[in-house]
Amino acid sequence: MDSTADLINDINNISLEDEDEDEGGLEIITENADETQTGFDAKLYVVGKFLTEGRTDFQALQQTLAALWKPGMGVYIKELETNLFLFQFYHEVDVKRVMEGCPWSFNRRELLMRRLSEGENPRSVPLNTMDMWIQVYDLKVGFMTERLITEVGNNIGKFVASCPTNFSGVWRDYFRVRVTIDVTKPLKRRMKIKKSAEDWYWITFKYENAPTFCFICGILGHSEKFCSRLFHTP
Ligand SMILES: [Zn+2]
Repeated sequence: MDSTADLINDINNISLEDEDEDEGGLEIITENADETQTGFDAKLYVVGKFLTEGRTDFQALQQTLAALWKPGMGVYIKELETNLFLFQFYHEVDVKRVMEGCPWSFNRRELLMRRLSEGENPRSVPLNTMDMWIQVYDLKVGFMTERLITEVGNNIGKFVASCPTNFSGVWRDYFRVRVTIDVTKPLKRRMKIKKSAEDWYWITFKYENAPTFCFICGILGHSEKFCSRLFHTP
């Protein structure tokens, strides 16, 4: 079967009853672009896959995520292929809450999730990032500013948000910053910082709800025992 036609069918809930073997499927997109806009709101779709490959008990996954997310308007989950899932929400509030709660995990495997953009094919969405809250420790007094938190966030990955209670007036041991991490790169665990005339010093990071993490190469998704670097070093 033509997988593109199959997919359009799924997304728009249009029933394509006669499945021609010719290439009619692709034309539907262009000809009925307006119809697609009204019937299919890409913003309510999220694509996800597990950081670690492998099969998933789909029934159990659905039940677990529904129980965790409790979406007010419900969610429909579809397994597009092995380790690729499409989540259809019915309200912006639900999508937003779920995305803000990332990373989610199931059976100790973390889900990489991304909202679908208009015109994007769920099967070709790059899934290599994860939004996480990171705790920033050891900042010296003169460095505790929103601007600095933002810069630190952009140094770790891509800054998403600063915790609203970072500067609420109460003394804190650490500041929280939400960052989009590239999971194919080693996690940064510390960073050197200074003001022009002063000396360098280190600030350190803790990743909240950190997924399985390798202390050898610093990359998420496997532990030291399974690190490929073990096999490269004599
Ligand atoms: Zn490793």
